[in-house]
Amino acid sequence: MSRMRIDDVEIREADIFEILLDNFPDMIHSIDEKGRIIYTNRTAERLLGYARDELLTMNIRQIYAPEILKALEKGFTDLKKRGDKTVESLLQAKDGTKIPVEIRSFSIYDDSGHFLRTFSILRDIRPIKELQQSLIHAGRLAAIGELASGVAHDINNPLTVILLSNEMVIRDLGKASPPEATHIERAIGHSHDVQRASKSIQKLADHLRNFSRGMVEKTEPVDLAASLSDALFITNSKITKIGGSVFNTVEPGMFFTNGCPNHIEQVLVNLIGNACDAMDGLPTRELHIGIVPANRNGTDMWQCDIRDTGPGIPPEIREEIFQSFFTTKEKGKGTGLGLSISRAIVRDHKGDIELVTELGKGSTFSVFLPRLANPAA
Ligand code: ADP
Repeated sequence: MSRMRIDDVEIREADIFEILLDNFPDMIHSIDEKGRIIYTNRTAERLLGYARDELLTMNIRQIYAPEILKALEKGFTDLKKRGDKTVESLLQAKDGTKIPVEIRSFSIYDDSGHFLRTFSILRDIRPIKELQQSLIHAGRLAAIGELASGVAHDINNPLTVILLSNEMVIRDLGKASPPEATHIERAIGHSHDVQRASKSIQKLADHLRNFSRGMVEKTEPVDLAASLSDALFITNSKITKIGGSVFNTVEPGMFFTNGCPNHIEQVLVNLIGNACDAMDGLPTRELHIGIVPANRNGTDMWQCDIRDTGPGIPPEIREEIFQSFFTTKEKGKGTGLGLSISRAIVRDHKGDIELVTELGKGSTFSVFLPRLANPAA
């Protein structure tokens, strides 16, 4: 066993490695072919709340969240065959706390190629996830800020209806005392207009309040048609302002995914908003929206296409547009956060965003999200 000297103290190299590993900020574990934990560093104790001796009697399946066990089995089988892998996963601590981690794993084999064990380095990505949530929320507020003038316009129309109708009621009912039947009938009609206009303001206010909420949302079955109609509702004034026509073929009750409704809506609001900006001032301003089934890496997905008839995106910036703070819009109009946040949200839903674009013809942003069977069926 090799030794080295530190301040006149002779130390075995193996001890130094142990000290280093135990003080490594990331958890490290090694498992055998059955998934039994055969090594962990001390960081695992701090992260999971189990004593190391306890962990060394446990199986890997006991420290991961139950909901990802299926994915864990598949990942472990792949890893034994393939050698190395980096994935995001979810640990479960002794007290039940769920801890999102990024895992880098590699397998080692004997001379004849038989699998021996896997080493994994697990990084706690809670701070990154928290930052991502704040960024998503900031992006949402930026989107609302941008939509604000249009929303004011959306409120102004029904407000005008309310004021005018109310004036008519006052006039009708003030004409004769007691008022005649025709006046009362007309006043009732106007009151209905007031009611309808008030409801549309209420709907918009409710919608804005929900959309701007910053809480970390739970996942639930989401009807993509509903997300689309909500996104179209909130971007209505922007579409109207550029004189855009919407062709939406998505039927409700058919396309479900598991996710955060607000986050999915945020992605669609961004994509629709970008399409409007791109088409502003062009002779043809069409927004085509559709959903088709697709398959990505063996997973059944919905492919939600948002296609515009804008100028298209030049090849040299097709990757850059997904970077944070990249914008070609004038100051005050773009934050450059829309697409980077949208991609992060969609990837968080185990999906992705792809772009097909042709200069002079338009762009299609396709949002891929895992298919979920109709929850009501
Ligand atoms: P922002 O909209 O604030 O600029 P995004 O991240 O949403 O930020 O978009 C980045 C850039 O991508 C835009 O500035 C624009 O150049 C380009 N882009 C996005 N969507 C489209 C589109 N549908 N057509 C043309 N260009 C687009």
